[in-house]
Amino acid sequence: MSYNINEKGYYGEFGGAYIPEMLYPNVEELRQNYLKIMAEPSFQEEFNALLKDYVGRPSPLYFAKRLSEKYNTKIYLKREDLNHTGAHKINNTIGQILMAKRLGKNRIIAETGAGQHGVATATVCALMGIECIVYMGEIDIARQAPNVARMKMLGATVIPALSGSRTLKDATNEAIRDWINNPVDTHYIIGSVVGPHPYPDMVAKFQAVVSEEIKSQLLEKEGTEDPTYLVACVGGGSNAAGTYYHYLDNEAVNIIAIEAAGHGVDSGESAATSVLGKEGIIHGSKTLLMQTNDGQITEPYSISAGLDYPGVGPMHANLYKTGRAEFIAITDDDAMKAGLDLCKLEGIIPAIESSHALAVFEHKTFKPDDIVVLNLSGRGDKDLQNYIDYFKL
Ligand SMILES: *Cc1c(COP(=O)(O)O)cnc(C)c1O
Repeated sequence: MSYNINEKGYYGEFGGAYIPEMLYPNVEELRQNYLKIMAEPSFQEEFNALLKDYVGRPSPLYFAKRLSEKYNTKIYLKREDLNHTGAHKINNTIGQILMAKRLGKNRIIAETGAGQHGVATATVCALMGIECIVYMGEIDIARQAPNVARMKMLGATVIPALSGSRTLKDATNEAIRDWINNPVDTHYIIGSVVGPHPYPDMVAKFQAVVSEEIKSQLLEKEGTEDPTYLVACVGGGSNAAGTYYHYLDNEAVNIIAIEAAGHGVDSGESAATSVLGKEGIIHGSKTLLMQTNDGQITEPYSISAGLDYPGVGPMHANLYKTGRAEFIAITDDDAMKAGLDLCKLEGIIPAIESSHALAVFEHKTFKPDDIVVLNLSGRGDKDLQNYIDYFKL
């Protein structure tokens, strides 16, 4: 059995492409071409050159000595926080902009909630001189002013979504509408391992550079490619998918997925999608999502904007259902404490999403010989105001 995608676009029973008929030509064009394009030597060459010189890869695998001493185990941090634009999201947007160019597209659309994916998309559009339109809920535009300013400075047009709750799902609806109306010249850059097939697989493959690097870096430092544990936080699931990718079918390596419990899994204010979720369809994919008994999608809550998504990618739904990965839900309070701990112990200010992953060490005891590789998905600059408000700094 494999935990990777099958030829029909499913991870176990999850995945597929559940889309309106009018979107079919767009998604089908991508599905028929993405693997072929990614396999072209010229694509690989351009992708790897940009990852190296523009993003700054490989990101270091850092042995966190003081953190390891505190928890009496061996902890390595994969430093995605050091990438250009401050997180792993750029790995995917670089890949997709190159894909769009090969497909002959000259216009990019994206949706964004907190604005991080919008910024990563606007960045690569500026890099390539391609028009960029980002849909964002009106409420989110007001809440995320610095990221809106960044997107504008990078030359993107930010269009407010004015319908519904005026947040991420409404922005997604607007982006889909745009794509239906512009099937020929436009590529839609999705920001995580979500959406209809082939998006989850394509995004996972662009992020897989993370585990590819972990293998060779760990071999050099520990004499083995295999850690005992891999740990990553899961919003939609892209940084986690990248961290796990080359280890999915290697069951000697234990996988831990960290979700956001918000105020507590049973508090009604949470984003612990796998534990709370039921099977359903969201953004064109069959997966686990938070919904009421009659199938209405529930509003998620987390202090971290990047983890506050009501679904989870189909790869992760399958990892949960099969038990291949252990899922742990971390509250706002525990995440914030773990984030501040990393600042004091290692001199690294993490993104609040990554702080959730770091809280694993208070929740699970590892052995002294265990090698734990934790993906530090992003840096905390964007979250400074949140840290200030929370700790009254
Ligand atoms: C967006 C984001 C996440 C969550 O997205 P995934 O697709 O689950 O990786 C996690 N960490 C950071 C720093 C982010 O910006």
